[in-house]
Amino acid sequence: MLALLDTATGELAPLQPRDPGRLSMYVCGPTVAGSPHLGHARFTLAWDAFRRYLTWSGWEVRFVSNVTDIDDKIIARAAEEHLSTEEVSARYEALWWQMMGKLGVERPDSTPHATAYVDQMVVLVQDLLARGHAYQGGDGVYFSTESVPSYGLLARQDLAFLRAGARVEASEEAGKRSPLDFVLWKLVGACERAPAWPSPWGPGRPGWHTECVVMSLDLLGEGFDLHLGGLDLAFPHHENERAQAVAAGKQFARRWAHNGMVLDEQGEKMSRSVGNVMSLPGLLERYEGRVLRSLVLGTHYRSPLSVTQETLDNAAGVLSRLDNFAREVRGLPAPPGGPDAAVLARFRWRLDDDFDTPGAMAVLLGAVRDARAHPERAPALSAAVRECCEKALGLDLAFEEETVDETVAALVRRRDAARSRGDYFEADSIRGKLQEMGYVLEDGPSGTAVRHQV
Ligand SMILES: [Zn+2]
Repeated sequence: MLALLDTATGELAPLQPRDPGRLSMYVCGPTVAGSPHLGHARFTLAWDAFRRYLTWSGWEVRFVSNVTDIDDKIIARAAEEHLSTEEVSARYEALWWQMMGKLGVERPDSTPHATAYVDQMVVLVQDLLARGHAYQGGDGVYFSTESVPSYGLLARQDLAFLRAGARVEASEEAGKRSPLDFVLWKLVGACERAPAWPSPWGPGRPGWHTECVVMSLDLLGEGFDLHLGGLDLAFPHHENERAQAVAAGKQFARRWAHNGMVLDEQGEKMSRSVGNVMSLPGLLERYEGRVLRSLVLGTHYRSPLSVTQETLDNAAGVLSRLDNFAREVRGLPAPPGGPDAAVLARFRWRLDDDFDTPGAMAVLLGAVRDARAHPERAPALSAAVRECCEKALGLDLAFEEETVDETVAALVRRRDAARSRGDYFEADSIRGKLQEMGYVLEDGPSGTAVRHQV
């Protein structure tokens, strides 16, 4: 039984789903206002692997992740580029899915868009007003955080502490009574160039915290199993989602889990405000999506993920070891007894313990070593490695030898000839040249294998 740390209680507890055998999960998706960055790669890869593992383990998973297609950042970008907000969100959503394809991230079962749910959000805001959990300020409708006694659950702090730490936001949300309160409905002024939807309070747009509550409850139902997302969203975004559901008398997510942040070369958190975010399209020009998956799997989902030249090289190295092994064993017969049961059991044991992917990867690298030391066990061990990497974690291995073009093949032949006549100076200089061209060489008993650097 898979146990996961619950952010709300701080405890490791087994997943006990609402409906036996079925698991409903919600992840806050992107705001399509710009290019995806490494924080996006981290959470999508971590939860994609998690979803695949659950499915592989026999759960019937229903996975919903939203697309925020109306937001202040989208409006600002549209004004900057003289485009409509629809054009901006369509452009960056297309880029988002293109990048997800490169990362090998499977699409969620549903990807609701905020703009398709505005009517339902208006209904929720009306309900919160009627129940006395919301109030009208000058420029919109606000949620009263003091009206929910359990506010602060996810921050695991009480209201007084949170209030003391909260910054009083300037003019933008002028109608707030308390700095922790948040906007449910933002009125759009007549001279403002921004899309607006009709509401009983006047034309406007919904607040960000409101969309996820409405969409998750609509598509997954009350008391859905897991709400997941980046740790930076736990407070206030997730806290505010939860507060609205509680105030509306609805059971929200039963469990919460959060992935850690991404750190840069200096060990600093990557964030748009610091200005050190690494663009995902840029990184994916230099590295295969599989390298990033290897990097994410090599770090526990709750730990900070350090993205440096060294950690990227290590992740590429782990992937090369697995790829090389896959090529070595590709001609082996299928094992009569199926994949090695002991490896599968150890692999599951690691992942069932708070989704310990580094532990699970260590099990697989151990199986690679065992297969080399005990060739008679190689068919069963390699079948287990392949099953776990590809089916359970979504890390596809390169089984086929690469075909290289004639220029490269000719250089390899010249180098083999140089080696056989003992001209190591020439051999090394050709190796250097191939490396510059992005190839790595592996000298083996039957000659030299050449492949693209990952
Ligand atoms: Zn959300």
